[in-house]
Amino acid sequence: MTDVSDAPTVRSAGDSWGITESVGATALGVAAARAAETAQPDPLIRDEFAFLLVSAAGPAWAQMACSEPHWLGDDAETRRIHEMSRNYQAVRTHYFDEYFTDIAHAGIRQVVILAAGLDSRAFRLDWPAGTTVFEIDQPNVLEYKTATLQAHGAVAKARYVPVPADLRDDWPATLIQAGFDPAQPTAWLAEGLLPYLPADAQDRLFELVGEHSAPGSRIAVEAFNMTPERHTEERRAQRRARGERMRKQLDLDIDLDSLIYTADDRADAAQWLAEHGWQVEAAPSAQEMARLGRPAAEADLAEFGMDGVLLRARLDGEHR
Ligand code: SAM
Repeated sequence: MTDVSDAPTVRSAGDSWGITESVGATALGVAAARAAETAQPDPLIRDEFAFLLVSAAGPAWAQMACSEPHWLGDDAETRRIHEMSRNYQAVRTHYFDEYFTDIAHAGIRQVVILAAGLDSRAFRLDWPAGTTVFEIDQPNVLEYKTATLQAHGAVAKARYVPVPADLRDDWPATLIQAGFDPAQPTAWLAEGLLPYLPADAQDRLFELVGEHSAPGSRIAVEAFNMTPERHTEERRAQRRARGERMRKQLDLDIDLDSLIYTADDRADAAQWLAEHGWQVEAAPSAQEMARLGRPAAEADLAEFGMDGVLLRARLDGEHR
């Protein structure tokens, strides 16, 4: 069970949100980073839908998605952190884009993006014919996204099936109702999700993924280092103070620390999957950033909660 002392104050069991509220706003934040990266002279990834999806939420969000963060003023330290964060988001997007290229080559034609937010891969990647991309997220988040894309005539490059559901509930039933076939190998993705789930909900999520994964299935996960020393009151207060400039300049009240669950009994995702029959390959995010020419100091990544691993795993036999 989740220890209530680990529960962030603004979160509660069964809470829900729209795109600009609570955890919904984090989907705007990461998509804003993808939009800003796409607009760089030599971008690592291209997400042509990101700016549209972010700017439709309002002018303050549109500013956040711009290539040049004028709203940060001339504070060199804040600009350095902003750039590191954009680099991190670009690298993680690149890692998971590559994962989808690999699973497509491996012949997998069923994809489930857990907590899809404003992920536009169903619309921007070249999927082989016969691929279905299911996306699970809160109903209001998916509604905002599909309505925005539709209003701009975006056309999915796979069979696209949004599945409104809460990932703390019985989401597999809703997924199966939407046409998901547990007998087919599936490629799952959990990007930018785990910290927003209580530790026990994370375990349950992986159990349900395993129970609905035919042999040959794959999963890719972004797993942050959630050790308690990363999230002491002092460190949270420091991060809140640094976020103050954004709140003042853009009038957006986002405090990431108030949204994440930092229970120290959270399972290590790579270890959990390895113990349940998955063959895991994990890359520390600092290593992946260096490999892709966007290096960042480990201490900085740790300070701003971006240290962890990007992992891919495959299930060759039955899951345990
Ligand atoms: N995966 C997307 C990406 O990387 O662009 C979105 C990541 S965003 C940081 C977190 C997303 O998780 C939000 O879209 C939020 O609505 C979704 N989410 C968090 N908890 C959820 C839950 N219990 N049920 C459904 N969606 C959830």
